[in-house]
Amino acid sequence: RSKEIGKNNYQFYNPIITSKSCQRLQIENLLHQALEKEQFLLHYQPQINIKTGQVLGMEALIRWQHPELGLISPTKFIPIAEETGLIVNIGEWVLRQACLQNQFWQKMGLPPIRIAVNLSPQQFQQPNFINVVTQILKETDLEAHFLELEITETTIMENIDFACQVISYFQTMGVHISMDDFGTGYSSLGYLKQIPLNSIKIDQTFVKDLKEHPQDLAIISAVLAIGRGFNLRVIAEGVETQYQVDLLKKLECEEMQGFKFSKPLTPEDAAKFLWSSPFNS
Ligand code: C2E
Ligand code: MG
Ligand code: MG
Ligand code: MG
Repeated sequence: RSKEIGKNNYQFYNPIITSKSCQRLQIENLLHQALEKEQFLLHYQPQINIKTGQVLGMEALIRWQHPELGLISPTKFIPIAEETGLIVNIGEWVLRQACLQNQFWQKMGLPPIRIAVNLSPQQFQQPNFINVVTQILKETDLEAHFLELEITETTIMENIDFACQVISYFQTMGVHISMDDFGTGYSSLGYLKQIPLNSIKIDQTFVKDLKEHPQDLAIISAVLAIGRGFNLRVIAEGVETQYQVDLLKKLECEEMQGFKFSKPLTPEDAAKFLWSSPFNS
């Protein structure tokens, strides 16, 4: 406690840094109890095949509902959870909750879809991570191919040999692996041939300003070509406008996710979205 006060006094002359570090400390303190107090929830964002209208999957996105601070975005607390190690337990909760939800939707008779779960580097690098996933699939009675793990390029590049082993094992289990935020890392493309992926997610930064930056079109079309060459699905993230949809369609990008189709939804609204999707087998 005295250490914290000392720190704040030291930063007295820089009110911006002080308030930022205060906020950080506050979040860190509250984050410790958030799991026990059941303050986390998941929202789900549909992933669409634009040709058929089929909902292929839902991406689980965590939110933190705090009684005083309100709804807190993962961009605010996931980095802190990552630094403090809290992400390991939080991540395990997300996995279990997402698998449970998917199993529940299937039991309700909704068309079966994949549930996509984001992994943070620390979580992925846990030595028992494979066991955790195996156990959760067993517990929730969800078939492995209905789970997709979203791993960023940066996470993979931190230890490519390790990542390759873990991902290969998931492939033998039937769990799908997707590379998130593709194109934003600083890695060479060569590693792609080592990693057995199922899909690539084109980062939303390339989709966002398509109108102003036609160069992004070239990047997207290169990623789509890589996808075809490697026999991977390619999904465009952050699709918001019809203009973007039309351009992506022209490039034969079939899979999209973004506000144009739906914002991340509560479980109830996600189920409604699934019911009303044109492809109900
Ligand atoms: P991400 O995995 O790349 O997720 C996509 C983010 O873009 C989500 O933000 C989503 O709400 C937002 N998004 C989707 N469509 C659009 C669109 O059309 N326009 C715009 N502007 N944004 C769109 P969100 O939910 O705030 O999550 C941010 C990031 O936090 C995620 O990026 C992911 O890296 C991380 N995250 C979220 N949930 C989890 C989790 O359960 N575990 C871990 N480790 N990270 C998570
Ligand atoms: Mg993601
Ligand atoms: Mg992403
Ligand atoms: Mg992202």
